[in-house]
Amino acid sequence: MSDSVLKDNYTEVLNRVKKACTKAERNPEDVTLIAVSKTKPVEMLQEVYDCGCRDFGENKVQEIMDKYEKLPSDIRWHMIGHLQTNKVKYIVDKVYMIHSVDSIKLAKEISKEALKKNVTVKVLLEVNVAKEETKFGLLTEEVFDFYNEVVDLPGLKVCGLMTIAPYVENSEENRQYFVNLKQLMVDIAAENTDNISVGELSMGMTGDYEVAIEEGATFVRVGTGIFGERNYAI
Ligand SMILES: *Cc1c(COP(=O)(O)O)cnc(C)c1O
Repeated sequence: MSDSVLKDNYTEVLNRVKKACTKAERNPEDVTLIAVSKTKPVEMLQEVYDCGCRDFGENKVQEIMDKYEKLPSDIRWHMIGHLQTNKVKYIVDKVYMIHSVDSIKLAKEISKEALKKNVTVKVLLEVNVAKEETKFGLLTEEVFDFYNEVVDLPGLKVCGLMTIAPYVENSEENRQYFVNLKQLMVDIAAENTDNISVGELSMGMTGDYEVAIEEGATFVRVGTGIFGERNYAI
């Protein structure tokens, strides 16, 4: 894929993000576009970096470690995939944010490894709002108790919630899930007025990021829309 295609894609997505913000009367600075670069070679990430992108999303620990070494150090790496506890130690000091905290065991491991490396890791709690059996994440009704159990762990800062909405043809079908996630965060924030750090909502992918922005997303995770289709066979 040539330079200009990536540049065109990235610019188009950025423009659509801005348009969605305008429509929703939101400040575009409150929405971060994460370029989801899983399976893509570092050369492609570099091209998108050169267009101004600093936020990249990956779902495999090994891939983050490889790319981290080869790309500029001011990139903010977002771990957006399911994270096994035994791999936390490899990335805890490399990632800007872990979007996929879905078990107490994982939260405790992040806390432990963060303390060892003397860092504080920003995390989001992953919620399976659509109750899809194939997906990881907490059920909506579990999130309150879960939040209270992890909020005071040292070395870890709970910044908000994340969800992976179902794959749908019509993005409007996912609007309700985004509304639900936002409401859940508002409810958590209302109960925890002493902890004002919960404000981030990671929701929206290539097929539905504009709807997610209209409903309050602060991070959208766009892969295919920037890098094109992924080929898992290679
Ligand atoms: C792959 C992935 C994305 C990006 O998906 P696209 O449909 O290609 O934009 C977003 N979020 C997560 C958690 C992913 O694994």
